[in-house]
Amino acid sequence: MDKLVTLDHVSKHFHVGKGKNLVAVNDISLDIYKGETLGVVGESGCGKSTLGRVVMGIYPATSGKMLYNGKQVNLRHTKDRYVYSQKAQIIFQDPYASLNPRMTVGSIIAEGMEIHNMYDKEKRMQRVYELLETVGLNREHANRFPHEFSGGQRQRIGIARALAVEPEFIVCDEPISALDVSIQSQIINLLKDLQAEHGFTYMFIAHDLNIVKYISDRIAVMYLGNLVELADSDEIYAHTLHPYSQALLASVPIPDPDKEAQKESSVLSGDVPSPINPKPGCPFANRCKHATERCKMESPKLQEVRPGHFVACHLHK
Ligand code: SF4
Ligand code: MG
Repeated sequence: MDKLVTLDHVSKHFHVGKGKNLVAVNDISLDIYKGETLGVVGESGCGKSTLGRVVMGIYPATSGKMLYNGKQVNLRHTKDRYVYSQKAQIIFQDPYASLNPRMTVGSIIAEGMEIHNMYDKEKRMQRVYELLETVGLNREHANRFPHEFSGGQRQRIGIARALAVEPEFIVCDEPISALDVSIQSQIINLLKDLQAEHGFTYMFIAHDLNIVKYISDRIAVMYLGNLVELADSDEIYAHTLHPYSQALLASVPIPDPDKEAQKESSVLSGDVPSPINPKPGCPFANRCKHATERCKMESPKLQEVRPGHFVACHLHK
């Protein structure tokens, strides 16, 4: 498969006061292949949204480089960012906060096409109508304002906005976690249908492993800014290798109460350490029941331990 996005030792730090660095994304290298959905999972604060924003060029990376279609993109450069902002789009978690309340739905959807000088005014309006229909709304909605819509409809508007510039790559940052459960599967199915039709590549960020399993071809697990495991979706569920991924899986509620009682022992205990000036060693060491002295000293590198299955843990070689 061809690579669409390559991250090469990408880090993102935020300065949070004198000599203090919050390491949100720590030295991540990975490829995203054309037409796939890469699920990115981890607890809140693990850096998954920051990674999504770095990939989108919303936050410049502190170090490392990014390639798109084999070419390096420098998102600090206005021109690169402009070109890239047509190829890559993002769908945000909160469909309300991400839509300008003073703009009509039609102008929200048309804005990206204007920025990228796509089509004349008449054709743009035509596209707005088509896009509204594509996402399950209708053309009469173009003259209305975001507050007139439900959460699920707003997320559909956010999707139409992302599609308007005909992107190749879409970062979906927890696009359904703010929605009612009854609406969630509709939005997921819409995203899947759009991918089948247009061949989009998705980076799908979530904390819910059930959702990620359903939509992703491969899954990346993040912990405290680090990529700790990466594999095909089926592989990672069948052979979960990293102790953190195992704990994350065990925390997915099981409908059968007997099984629910049995899994108690693998549930996470202890706190996530601070991401500010992190200690050396494995980031998971203070919560890991397999931790040894070595784990506290030496941080494990991501290594391929089964075909296409990468893990960063001293237990696996
Ligand atoms: Fe646990 Fe050590 Fe593996 Fe880290 S490296 S996950 S502490 S066994
Ligand atoms: Mg987030």
